Amino acid sequence: MNFIPEPIDDYVNSHSGNEPELLADLRRETHLKVLNPRMLSGIYQGRVLSLISKLIQPELILEIGTYTAYSALCLAEGLKSNGTLHTIDINDELRWIREKYINQSDAQERIKCHEGDALTIVPDLNLKDIDLVFIDADKSNYIEYYNLCLPAMKPGGLILIDNVLWSGKVLEVADENDADTITLQKLNDLIQADESVEKVMIPVRDGLYLVRKI
Ligand code: SAH
Ligand code: CA
Repeated sequence: MNFIPEPIDDYVNSHSGNEPELLADLRRETHLKVLNPRMLSGIYQGRVLSLISKLIQPELILEIGTYTAYSALCLAEGLKSNGTLHTIDINDELRWIREKYINQSDAQERIKCHEGDALTIVPDLNLKDIDLVFIDADKSNYIEYYNLCLPAMKPGGLILIDNVLWSGKVLEVADENDADTITLQKLNDLIQADESVEKVMIPVRDGLYLVRKI
């Protein structure tokens, strides 16, 4: 969902950076061959992720929710030449497309794909001093992901959390069976109250929370 009126959105898009060719090919192939292509970050959000990563120049990135690796390749644009990006996804049926595109990228040797449940893989990786995290997997586990990542962040490190506006549903009273909305509401409130982080929520696409560990 987009919260910005369409003419403004078009203007914003036309004045933001161009999508690299490899990502354009990946986006097209995802739309042609993969279920739920709306989950892919898309051109504008991809450029936001790339620029944030370039500002931070991270040595260690963790992504939860690879999907077809579009956002991973955007985040890798800012990765230091000696850095590593770990990305996790539970769906091994998308391995072929992730590998196809990561293998064409300059960052291929610095991107490590892990398949399985992030709730077990994140602790197993035992990462320390993470510079940049992108949380973009199953919404009902977002609080666990946040709590797993925060202690592993470097001071000054940034956690990006996607879809925190959830098409605006976080503003409404959630149905008791709607675990995704309930978790996102709780997480947003928890972060707002968390004095160990500085934060801004920005209405990029479906809402992106920028959370910086103090
Ligand atoms: N970050 C991608 C989109 C991710 S879509 C982009 O912006 O292009 C969400 C992904 O989370 C899906 O591919 C899904 O398989 C994955 N996912 C869902 N539950 C998961 C879990 N428990 N552990 C790891 N990945 C999970
Ligand atoms: Ca997303």
